[in-house]
Amino acid sequence: MTSTTAMDRLRAAARDHRAYVEQWRVRHPGRPVVGVTPMNFPREIVLAAGALPVVIPDDQRPVGEGRAYLPEFYCGFTRNLADQAATGRLGHYDAILLADHCIQLLGASDVARALGARTPVFFGMLISSLSDSWAPARITEMMGQFRAEAERLTSAPVTDGALRAAIAAYNADRALLRQVFDARAAGDATWSPADLQDLVASALIMDPVEHHALLAEALAGIGPAARDDRVRVHLSGHLCHAPRRELLEVIEDCGAVVVDDDLWTGRRYVQSNVPLEEGGDPMEAIARWYAERNTRLPCPTRVQHDADWDSWLVDAVRRSGAEAVVHLMPKFCEPHMFLYPELRKALDAAGIPQLLVETEHEGIPLESFRTRLEALVERALRRRPAYA
Ligand code: SF4
Repeated sequence: MTSTTAMDRLRAAARDHRAYVEQWRVRHPGRPVVGVTPMNFPREIVLAAGALPVVIPDDQRPVGEGRAYLPEFYCGFTRNLADQAATGRLGHYDAILLADHCIQLLGASDVARALGARTPVFFGMLISSLSDSWAPARITEMMGQFRAEAERLTSAPVTDGALRAAIAAYNADRALLRQVFDARAAGDATWSPADLQDLVASALIMDPVEHHALLAEALAGIGPAARDDRVRVHLSGHLCHAPRRELLEVIEDCGAVVVDDDLWTGRRYVQSNVPLEEGGDPMEAIARWYAERNTRLPCPTRVQHDADWDSWLVDAVRRSGAEAVVHLMPKFCEPHMFLYPELRKALDAAGIPQLLVETEHEGIPLESFRTRLEALVERALRRRPAYA
């Protein structure tokens, strides 16, 4: 098999998760497939139970019937989830397990529960205030409930040994992905942002051992690309779901090269491993992963005194040498909207050019996006000492 074939398979899983699930079921008869929410759900627990945990993606289809179940001012991701529930497009999951991260997700989970009568839905409230003294106990309790739900689903115990194996599998996959992101931030422009998005989006769908093997094959033999002279851009935002590929393509068409990001389908997913030490308690490690991941890449849906997204962003820009930041904010994403003024102030204070783009589920006019991007690239170029 060539590395092109490996990349093709990763891309196929990223772009058609239902087809991947069907193939996986053929290869693993009798084993359940569980839809889980992005960002905070510990997939290791579901994998250790013998099921395939799939992070439910926005399938990017227009919202039709789902319109009746959530207000228009909910974000595109939650309205798309409601639409998937309303039209039977969640039917390939045997259960849906959700870890809370915002109020809009709560609404979407109610729709999934109300419309998917035969599919069990469990919504776990993970504490959002991570600096409180009682946070560790509450996190441990909720992780225990996720384990109990996984056991109930498969009618079998989730053993510590299986948990350790699942943690090792996801850690290895994220670590390999992280190498690609770190190489990009250091100047390697081998992978376009759309390719990188496919690498991460496929990791959110696939069995981690299979994904790791394909990823290693796709990376094999690819040397670092020469440093690129285009304007270096950091992409920020887009929690929970992937931005549309055509947006990423326009960015690079305009004379910019994406060197780093904090997108969910990007560095946000790959940034944190579960910190399991030799002989350690796997459930404790999973609880620590959740408690500490905000310090590695702050999330606006969580509150923590020693973590703030604005200073992380300025530091990330300095590390990668990015010359501009493009904020990709999904329309009506409240957590992002609340934090955005702080991000803007911090970047302004650091003298970093920036552009806010509000993305919509049905897409945005690409020509006006292109014009605004070109203006940002021009501003960044004028700041270069040799620009004439
Ligand atoms: S965090 Fe933002 S994108 Fe995610 S569900 Fe909440 S409002 Fe939607």
